[in-house]
Amino acid sequence: MAISFGHDRPWGGVSQREYRRMAQDPAQTLHYRVHFAAIGWADRQGHAAFGPGKLAALLGKNDEPLSEGSTNGAMARAKRLGLISPRSGAACLVLPPHLFQKGKGAPVPCRLHPER
Ligand SMILES: [Zn+2]
Repeated sequence: MAISFGHDRPWGGVSQREYRRMAQDPAQTLHYRVHFAAIGWADRQGHAAFGPGKLAALLGKNDEPLSEGSTNGAMARAKRLGLISPRSGAACLVLPPHLFQKGKGAPVPCRLHPER
């Protein structure tokens, strides 16, 4: 499907590889790292699925995963700021279509939204 955000809503592309890198940079603010991870790993439907413990591992530093409480806190702040959809969880970060669209790639099965 062609990317379209609607009339008079210009868009540009980003490097998902760079967003994956920034998501893992401890110098960045945690709730933005959650947003960066959502962008970096989003599939064609805006879902970024993570295996158990994977998101906390990405957000950690010095090979230590982020605690469950801090991971949930960062996701809650990201939701409040509209950086990820309220449907997001640690198993799958979701970007709404007004924020993210992707022209290629197959959807990845996710544990949190089997129905999408
Ligand atoms: Zn999902």
